[in-house]
Amino acid sequence: MPHQPSTDRLGNEVDSIPSHLFESAVEQSPLAISITDLNANILYCNEAFTEVTGYSREEILGNNEAVLSYKSTPRHIYQEMWQVISDKRPWRGTLINRRKNGERYLAELMIAPVLDSEGEISHYLGLHRDGSGIHALQQRVANQKALIESVVDSAPDAIAVLDQNYKVLLDNHAYKKLVGDMRGGEPVVKLFAAIEEDDPGFAQLLKRRDGFNDREVECRLGREGARRWFSCSGTWFYECSSDADDFFRQPDVPYLMLSVHEITQQKRRQEEVRRNAMRALMAEEDLNTSMRETLSAAAYKLQEPLNMLNAAIALINKKRSCSEGSEQILQLLSEIREMGEEGLELLHRTMPHESGEENAQVNLNQLLHEVVQYTTPRLLAEGIVIEWRPESSLPPITGSPRQLRTLFRHLLNNAIEAIVDATDSSREIAIHSGREGEWVSFTISDSGNGIDESLRYKVFEPFFTTKHSFDRAHSGMGLTLVQEAANAHAGTIEIGDNDNGGCQIKLRLPIARP
Ligand code: FAD
Repeated sequence: MPHQPSTDRLGNEVDSIPSHLFESAVEQSPLAISITDLNANILYCNEAFTEVTGYSREEILGNNEAVLSYKSTPRHIYQEMWQVISDKRPWRGTLINRRKNGERYLAELMIAPVLDSEGEISHYLGLHRDGSGIHALQQRVANQKALIESVVDSAPDAIAVLDQNYKVLLDNHAYKKLVGDMRGGEPVVKLFAAIEEDDPGFAQLLKRRDGFNDREVECRLGREGARRWFSCSGTWFYECSSDADDFFRQPDVPYLMLSVHEITQQKRRQEEVRRNAMRALMAEEDLNTSMRETLSAAAYKLQEPLNMLNAAIALINKKRSCSEGSEQILQLLSEIREMGEEGLELLHRTMPHESGEENAQVNLNQLLHEVVQYTTPRLLAEGIVIEWRPESSLPPITGSPRQLRTLFRHLLNNAIEAIVDATDSSREIAIHSGREGEWVSFTISDSGNGIDESLRYKVFEPFFTTKHSFDRAHSGMGLTLVQEAANAHAGTIEIGDNDNGGCQIKLRLPIARP
């Protein structure tokens, strides 16, 4: 059968492609190309080879490729290279080479064995290029990465890079420590949940890929649930995808860099300062309240004889005509009345005024906690145990912090007094807070003797007291003020029994004030 020459799609005979075309292509290739015998003696090299090595063709032909060695490539690399190519397989690798002028360069080399018609190696084809520039660049990037990593790692703040599903891709030492503190939990999940609790719009903000700064959150970490505070900031940045499809695209893969600064120490200091200020304020309020109560009680007591005096004057006035000497008595009584009224006026004037206060958003759990803390020395002195069970997510209410504080302090003081009076009872006060629909509720329950059902309305009357001695502490104004404060906040207050026969006060305050 006659030989049918194979043709390409344009109809040219493939076999007829002239061999000088291959020669020119090899000669003009930008890669340094050499052909050696089986011992790596150079038989041919192209123009790029002479340019990269600095040797002319006359100088290099006939020499072994070893003349290019800088003698610093580890021995085992050559051994492995020879093993591979002797096995008729191509080898790729990097060698440290020396140019004719003694300069070092990194040769990215590929050696392919050339087989004869018997399938035996007849020559080796070497292709190499100077990879020093790329290597220097890669090294610089690697060094920079190492530097950034070590800086980030030694940063005192916890830093993590998250993908768009908030999965942690990279983190530093401080972040890993936070993971440890959380006993394996993911800090970012806990922190973001805490931020969202304070700001329900936070998830939307993240969706919009907006950054955020200094979001302060309180978290309970670990099994013991120690309270810790963190300030969180996040910045979005974008990277190109490494997919080939995205080669010509703008960077569009989002990442969130989260940095978490622990502010527990500062918060504790702030809390301490606030607590001290609160103690001073409560002590002042105590003093004012007790002065007001004492003076009010004195005024109340003084008002009674004055009323009787007025009645006596009216009576004498009526019978003045028929009794002798009544003018003088009348004169005397009027003078006494004037003196009494002056005294009463003086009492009213010396009464400390209640300072006006703007309404504010009040976290009642926190406020009650502060009142309990302020009362702790007295509780300890009386050996009373407090069971404090606050509702974890109690909404704030709008109100007067001073009035509400006074309210809780009176209730707590009443509970303590009731326990002290009931000498043989256990000494416990239980305080619970909760949410009932649009109301927040508090129950304060003591282990005293309770309040008789017949007195449960009367105890709210001014100056009504079940104590025998009338003194500053038992002026009978406490529950009146409690009722006033509850009314001012559109709340309700009820007195009941608890299971131990003690008193249980239930206070309800609306979340939104009508
Ligand atoms: P050598 O004594 O030459 O060899 C080191 C080890 O290689 C020996 O222990 C031996 O086990 C093995 N070995 C050497 N020759 C053979 C052989 N013929 N068959 C089997 N095993 C053998 N080297 C460079 O440094 N830079 C280059 O750019 C470079 N290009 C090359 C291109 C080609 C196509 C080939 C085939 C080799 C090239 N070499 C190159 C390798 C070079 O020939 C030397 O092997 C190498 O430089 C080490 O030289 P040496 O004198 O230190 O040790």
